[in-house]
Amino acid sequence: MIYKHDPASIKGFLEDTSNLKSGHTPGVFFPETVDELAELLKSAVGEHRRFTIAGNGTGTTGGRIPLGEYVISMQKLDRIGEPVPLSDNRAYITVQAGVLLDDLQKKVERSGWFYPPDPTEKLCFVGSTIANNSSGARSFKYGPTRNHVARILVIMAQGEKLNLSRGACRADEEGIFRFSLPSGREMSFKRAGYRMPDTSKHNAGYFSEEGMDLIDLFIGSEGTLGVIAEADLMLIPLPSTLISCLVYFRNIEELFGFVDLLKNPENGISPRAIEFFDNHSLEFLAAKYPEVPGTSEGAIFFELETAPEREEYDLDILFDLMERCNAMTDESWMALDRDEQERLREFRHALPLIVNDWLSRQYESKISTDMAVPDDRFRELFDCYRSSCEQQGFVYIIFGHIGNAHVHLNILPRNHEEFVQAKALYRKFVGKVLELGGTLSAEHGIGKLKAEYLAGMYQESGIEEMVRVKKYLDPFLVLNRGNLIPAVYLETEIH
Ligand SMILES: Cc1cc2nc3c(=O)[nH]c(=O)nc-3n(C[C@H](O)[C@H](O)[C@H](O)COP(=O)(O)OP(=O)(O)OC[C@H]3O[C@@H](n4cnc5c(N)ncnc54)[C@H](O)[C@@H]3O)c2cc1C
Repeated sequence: MIYKHDPASIKGFLEDTSNLKSGHTPGVFFPETVDELAELLKSAVGEHRRFTIAGNGTGTTGGRIPLGEYVISMQKLDRIGEPVPLSDNRAYITVQAGVLLDDLQKKVERSGWFYPPDPTEKLCFVGSTIANNSSGARSFKYGPTRNHVARILVIMAQGEKLNLSRGACRADEEGIFRFSLPSGREMSFKRAGYRMPDTSKHNAGYFSEEGMDLIDLFIGSEGTLGVIAEADLMLIPLPSTLISCLVYFRNIEELFGFVDLLKNPENGISPRAIEFFDNHSLEFLAAKYPEVPGTSEGAIFFELETAPEREEYDLDILFDLMERCNAMTDESWMALDRDEQERLREFRHALPLIVNDWLSRQYESKISTDMAVPDDRFRELFDCYRSSCEQQGFVYIIFGHIGNAHVHLNILPRNHEEFVQAKALYRKFVGKVLELGGTLSAEHGIGKLKAEYLAGMYQESGIEEMVRVKKYLDPFLVLNRGNLIPAVYLETEIH
């Protein structure tokens, strides 16, 4: 197995997009087969090694940044199968963890299939999207990654292989999972005993609900319970026709009214994505796209899957809804063919790039939220974000997955004093979100950056439940220490 420890080769493994600077590691292993990966973990305790798992470094929470642990890079586990059609008009495909999401999506689309999960950044590994239960714009219709995973091969912390199909092991009435490992070792433990928030997206802490499937514990556990080595992913037929559109509004109330109409199935349409840009996001975008109207208070991007024989009908409905909400229809951007849709996708993707470029000249990190609240509390949170940032005179943008009551607020500090103030405000927002029954993370996960806030959401008792599950599956704390569960809780004894 390849092992690298020279500074130039390992430098990249000390980073992701979180700007966390404290990463350090003795070296990086590159297993080329699942057996090599399993052997590496089997010898971990004997060799006194702990590991941080590395995907492709697009994570936003420092999850893959080692704090002294060795690194396991998943990049050589990159085999991908062929779509296998099933009798119910679906198919599945087997992939190893280090396959790029972009490669997976392009491959299945070439043979007429569609893999819905679409975190905006496509240069991530599929295994990471499972470990993080990633979601994105299309999750409004299709839900997060977990909804599309039929089987995973997990390498447990002590090197045993657990081949887990959906439906094979469920928590019983008392919440207990019972299963055996290939070595014959019998496993039995209780799911974490807390209630998850009532939001349409949630990705903070171990998944736990009545009768849950064991596969859902590993999905979204951020590499703390096992390494995802391989998966079977479900595919659906590629939609034949797509309507993509960016609609501007002069008035924010009318924009919110439009979102309500798009979300209401009684209007005869069911969009797969509903995304938001506030006026500040549009100002940043106008630097690259001068056609963005300066008079707009915000914009909604949406996508609707349709069919050639229905397209005109759906367009009529959409124009009617826009008119009812006084949308700036003439300035809006309707993309009906693939090239135009790609240009619109680039427009959406340009926002983080333009903002990061601006930030690189301020020499400070942004403070960004990834929180969601129940739908009926969204306006309260949105107004709180806006009024607090205005009051403090921050440069900020709000954008993202408004269909799921989940927008990202990015505060962009111009100096260190503002950075400190923005961090304090972030803490206040966490309190507000929890008071509204929301979640600390709707999609990016907790990683190392947000672990300190998790106790606010689950109380000490909830964290201890997670520690209990972690220590059952990884008693020597070999995997991804510091991720999700604050390190301080892992040092304490559990009663
Ligand atoms: C511009 C931009 C936009 C984004 N938009 C979205 C979005 O809309 N929705 C969203 O959900 N995310 C989004 N992300 C976040 C990111 O793309 C995802 O979290 C992605 O899953 C990270 O993949 P990666 O391969 O880069 O993983 P890394 O950053 O390398 O690792 C992420 C975490 O996964 C763990 N991990 C990696 N592989 C495995 C494995 N095989 N088994 C167990 N654990 C593993 C790592 O230890 C780490 O904790 C965005 C990121 C960027 C930069």
